[in-house]
Amino acid sequence: MARIVVVGSINMDLVTLTPRFAAPGETLLGDRFVTVPGGKGANQAVAAARLGAQVALVGALGQDAFGDQLLDGLQREHVDTSHVVRVDDVGSGTASITVAEGENHIIVVPGANARVTPAQVEKAQGLMARADAVLVQMEIPMESVEATLRLGHHLGVPVILNPAPAQKLPASLLKQARYLTPNQHELAILLGAKHDTDFRELMIKAPAPVVLTRGAEGAWYRDGGEPAHQEGFAVEAVDTTGAGDTFNAALAVFLNEGLPQAVRKACAAAALSVTRLGAQGGMPTRAELDAFLG
Ligand code: ATP
Repeated sequence: MARIVVVGSINMDLVTLTPRFAAPGETLLGDRFVTVPGGKGANQAVAAARLGAQVALVGALGQDAFGDQLLDGLQREHVDTSHVVRVDDVGSGTASITVAEGENHIIVVPGANARVTPAQVEKAQGLMARADAVLVQMEIPMESVEATLRLGHHLGVPVILNPAPAQKLPASLLKQARYLTPNQHELAILLGAKHDTDFRELMIKAPAPVVLTRGAEGAWYRDGGEPAHQEGFAVEAVDTTGAGDTFNAALAVFLNEGLPQAVRKACAAAALSVTRLGAQGGMPTRAELDAFLG
């Protein structure tokens, strides 16, 4: 059983479905409202746990009702939350999402996610030292992302940096990641390159090995040498929310099988996730993945 540590965000997604977007100052009657657990850190932790890994999450929640619900949800998915702290001066992270006319407007308030500190990451050193892989994204303070990369590098544990939301980062920092997992757009931002630069050229230039996701087309990967392509699995896409998170989780869980096999399984797990509604709702179990791969 793979042991995975995830350092990242935990959000409650507040989703309103409405026939059209409201104009400034306008009040509309919407159709439906649902709350759904989210945040890249929590999503990746749940996806890895469903795939059969032993998972611990390092993150932060407020002392509010969303915090209670999110913590319960993670524990029900068998994620170790002993390194999830509760802060009392700010609420749990939220994403307010309005869905209308096939598009969405999203406002993220980081809340407690902004309180994940390097000291908190360092407290998880014992866990990280025993992990097969560490996953980190960029919805927590940059100094905590840096602390995760530094500690993983120091301990000799592979850290997968999912650079989303993307910002330009120095090569000295990126070098400490075992793998970077951007999409094409995120890779250009991360390296400060022009958006029309060929992604294969950017993969070769990147200071760390890159596994690049390409939606329905699957993924490209490079660990020295020329970039290689893994075809996407043909499925009927229902909801692509959380595909990237499922991909990252599976990559970490199957990394010990070698990169080509881990990327293949990550594409399969992510393809399964797009056939079902919701981010965490769509994430496959290990048995579902095995059955899909035959
Ligand atoms: P997000 O963060 O919005 O989930 P992303 O841009 O990080 O998305 P994508 O490249 O869209 O990630 O998707 C991640 C992986 O999911 C892809 O590499 C692919 O394997 C799988 N995937 C996504 N969309 C489809 C699809 N329509 N059919 C099959 N596989 C898909």
